Amino acid sequence: MDTMSFVLFGATGDLATRKIYPALYNLFIEMKMPESFSVIGLGRKEISNDIFQGLVEKSLNTFSRNSPDNADTMKAFLSAFRYSQLDVNRKEDYQKLLQLVVQREKELKLSENRMFYLSVSPEFFDVIALNINESGLGTTEGWKRLIIEKPFGRDLKSAQELNENLSKAFHEEEIFRIDHFLGKAMVQNLEVLESSNPYLQDLWSNHYIANVQITANETVGVEERAGYYDHAGALRDMFQNHMLQLLMMIATQLPKRGDASTDNLKKKAIMESLRPLQQEDVIHNVVRGQYVAGKSKGDSVVAYTDEPGVAVHTHTETFVAARLWIDDLFWNEVPFYIRTGKRMKEKSTRIVIEFKEPLTKQSIEEDGKMANLLVIEIGPKEGMFIQLNKKNNKGELEPVRIDCYSNEKDAPEAYEKLIHDAMNGDSTFFAHWDEVEMSWKWVQPILNAFNDNLIPLQMYEAGSYGPTGSDELLAFEGFKWLLDS
Ligand code: NAD
Repeated sequence: MDTMSFVLFGATGDLATRKIYPALYNLFIEMKMPESFSVIGLGRKEISNDIFQGLVEKSLNTFSRNSPDNADTMKAFLSAFRYSQLDVNRKEDYQKLLQLVVQREKELKLSENRMFYLSVSPEFFDVIALNINESGLGTTEGWKRLIIEKPFGRDLKSAQELNENLSKAFHEEEIFRIDHFLGKAMVQNLEVLESSNPYLQDLWSNHYIANVQITANETVGVEERAGYYDHAGALRDMFQNHMLQLLMMIATQLPKRGDASTDNLKKKAIMESLRPLQQEDVIHNVVRGQYVAGKSKGDSVVAYTDEPGVAVHTHTETFVAARLWIDDLFWNEVPFYIRTGKRMKEKSTRIVIEFKEPLTKQSIEEDGKMANLLVIEIGPKEGMFIQLNKKNNKGELEPVRIDCYSNEKDAPEAYEKLIHDAMNGDSTFFAHWDEVEMSWKWVQPILNAFNDNLIPLQMYEAGSYGPTGSDELLAFEGFKWLLDS
């Protein structure tokens, strides 16, 4: 891997502390970092290099999956870290940063490869990109790359504006948009599942698949994020990005397409085939919900509107479910159902593929038979199972599950894989601009309908599986959400 400078904006923040330093450290001890590298942390506070290195060490002791118990390794790792105070709006701070970057490149004999990671509020993305360009930080003999995290805009227009501004400083192939769902082991496994299992390949078509269900449910409420969440809601926070990326990933890999186009082009093709929603269709295809008081894991919890920091009469949705159709040769007439919510009964991110009876073309769930399922568990459990039917000792039909789960403790975290890929210039598991733009285009009529209050806000009890409208959505085609207990 190329030697490089890793320039981290927001180095004293929560994301850096909980995810980025542990990811870099785990890559380091697994020999996946470049032979030589420099990390330059930036933040608003004035702190010394020693204090900064102490913060990093503390973060590793608290959050790293590999325990940092070897003092020499820790010392070697921390020696790469330097700190510089920077206010995103102060031009002179970027000059100071440039001097430090160049000084470290010389000291460590690094190639002029520069990775800029913006672990700061998205409102700063434009100004930082502009200043990287104007200060000369972006003028290098080697490569330069930018890592950013969602939200990429709050609607189609603002996303396009942001992209236009970023593209003044970075080419599309230099921008790595993290969607941490794409770094999850089972999402990265989808391609292998398809390409290495002839047993499944023929079944993965609209001849055999009745429907696909994608769920990302959380048991927690809004926690301390009300300030952000009450202006975003589930549609912006989860659906437009993570959920549509999961849809693209599953629809891209299954069934076999037999072409050599890149994953990015395949994902783009899925978005192009996604049947657009007109504003008047939103009411029939989308459910909008908000939790009221209930129980979470046995404890009483308050309604969303009673959470600290949430506006009293807010219409912000904490739950969204939708029915989507992909009008292509492979998925024609297979409904995809997506749901995501807070304060749900169980925490689970999973994809369920329900197979149908090939002769009747119906779901087989009748006469005691349960549906045949392929279930991909993305989190918190990681693994998969196939559900079949068998006869028990009483001669009754009962479902059996053939499963395989991974040992979560040893699994690299999503951030490790994604940062490693970005360092290698591999953008396979990142969100590309065309996907982001098409996702916003698809979601925009829903945003408008929510904004104009054209869709009823259905209340659901905390600790349930969401509003009744969510079940009705599937019942329309004769299906139900599977695996809800
Ligand atoms: P944070 O508030 O904990 O940290 C913000 C960082 O930005 C600090 O280092 C601070 O010094 C710096 N900063 C703030 N104002 C600045 C300014 N004017 N000039 C220079 N630096 C400034 O935030 P966070 O939780 O680390 O989140 C950072 C970004 O990552 C946000 O956009 C957030 O949405 C996103 N994100 C966070 C998480 C998470 O788990 N925390 C997860 C996904 C995405």
